[in-house]
Amino acid sequence: MWDAEYDLIIIGSGFAGLAAALEARKHCSSIIVLEKMRVPGGNSVISGGLVAAAGSELQRQAGIEDSPELMMADMLAAGMKLNQPELVRIVAERSVEALQWTIDDLGVKYKPRLSHLGGHSVPRTYNTIETSGSGIIRPMLTRCRKLGIPVQLKTLFKRFVLDENDEVEGVMVSENYIFPNPKTGEIRRLRAKKAVVLAAGGFAQDITFRTIQNPNLTADIESTNQPGATAESLIEAIRIGATPIQLSLIQLGPWASRDEEGFGVGSMFSMLAGFPYGILVDRSSGRRFVNELSDRKLLVDAMLNSGREAVAIVDSKGVQHASTLEKCLKRGVVKQYESIDELANDNRIPLEALKNTILSYNASVEKGVDDEFGKPITDDLSPIQFPPYFSIRLISKVHHCMGGLRINTKAQVMHVRTQQPIGRLYAAGEITGGIHGASRLGSNAITDCLVFGRIAGRNAAQEPSRR
Ligand SMILES: Cc1cc2nc3c(=O)[nH]c(=O)nc-3n(C[C@H](O)[C@H](O)[C@H](O)COP(=O)(O)OP(=O)(O)OC[C@H]3O[C@@H](n4cnc5c(N)ncnc54)[C@H](O)[C@@H]3O)c2cc1C
Repeated sequence: MWDAEYDLIIIGSGFAGLAAALEARKHCSSIIVLEKMRVPGGNSVISGGLVAAAGSELQRQAGIEDSPELMMADMLAAGMKLNQPELVRIVAERSVEALQWTIDDLGVKYKPRLSHLGGHSVPRTYNTIETSGSGIIRPMLTRCRKLGIPVQLKTLFKRFVLDENDEVEGVMVSENYIFPNPKTGEIRRLRAKKAVVLAAGGFAQDITFRTIQNPNLTADIESTNQPGATAESLIEAIRIGATPIQLSLIQLGPWASRDEEGFGVGSMFSMLAGFPYGILVDRSSGRRFVNELSDRKLLVDAMLNSGREAVAIVDSKGVQHASTLEKCLKRGVVKQYESIDELANDNRIPLEALKNTILSYNASVEKGVDDEFGKPITDDLSPIQFPPYFSIRLISKVHHCMGGLRINTKAQVMHVRTQQPIGRLYAAGEITGGIHGASRLGSNAITDCLVFGRIAGRNAAQEPSRR
């Protein structure tokens, strides 16, 4: 009846799946990770590699006071309290432990400075040296190889197989599958003696499914995600009774460039330099219109949903924080100008209005308070006055699914009828819902995936083994 048998089957090779696999390996030996694409890593490997942690070593060195309570308060505020508080608490409380695990166990290298991303009360974001999630995924894959955990590519998860008690006993997959062709691959049945962990990510690239959830997110709106970020695993979990939660809460990224596809190199420029150290202006009026360090939902509402065409502007001092500057300039995503006059002219921004905007922003920086929009004026902010100046033209792109499967604090998937765990089924990462509520804060997804991936792996591996 079965083509192969393992203790644990993990679906998805991103942060959540690999964290689950590595943690599970401490408790059981026969683990397989299944991945439908030709390359491992999903959205995780193309991510910016920004990781939030509350109470970290870099914060201590910089004298920044932070706590899991403050991180939790930030998550609930951005999430408009649609988050499940017991799950939020776990992410915040274990954020440092997860970060430290990547450093101590995996050897991940981070830059020596923290970033202050929108919606976080204090700087708490670590940046990988590579400015990319590959800086974490690569060591995870190397560790999997060392520990004998196969990551089987081109293997599409199709169905769960349940036992006589409606517990998950295995999966039906299509091996040698070539994404996205449904006619490729051979069907196999794989048995999980202990459990299955679903870590198949979000569905931002699934235009049919995402427009069912939010009809505004049509094919005209680009996405930052890898093409395999689709909904079939989520739908299959719902078929066997998993509880879907907040599926219409889909986040757009406000920092992406109009002048390149996907996440590209411009998004990190805006996130690390343009928004924290520069200003956002409405191209047609030349005026600021929002606190640049707001969370993503507020920014997108102020841009896309208000029909504004936004440009981020930063000077030569602020640009020092932009790790992708060279690539941005080379690709024409960011433009450099010797004067504000040149910048205004090239971007077709009314010059006098822009000059007044900059004067008024600079006065706020000098004063230490932004009366107009409430941007936090931190010690390392300086007036925009040192040429050359840099600009990036922005457009919002579909980025993150806050909704997904309901899990409990043990990462067990909850049945929609009973609200009891579905036997031997765990989930972690972006396929789960309810942790980030209405809006996920930047750099909190990696923390969530690592924390709950490890919880899922540990608990799944401790299920009693079937004969
Ligand atoms: C461009 C970009 C930049 C980002 N930057 C950051 C950042 O800096 N910090 C941060 O906190 N968050 C960031 N995020 C969000 C974060 O990266 C993701 O939420 C996170 O990587 C999700 O991890 P995951 O393990 O849940 O899913 P993924 O990493 O997407 O992995 C899921 C895997 O499952 C596979 N899969 C799906 N369906 C099937 C199936 N049926 N069968 C087999 N395999 C399947 C997918 O192909 C994929 O490889 C970013 C996201 C993007 C897109």
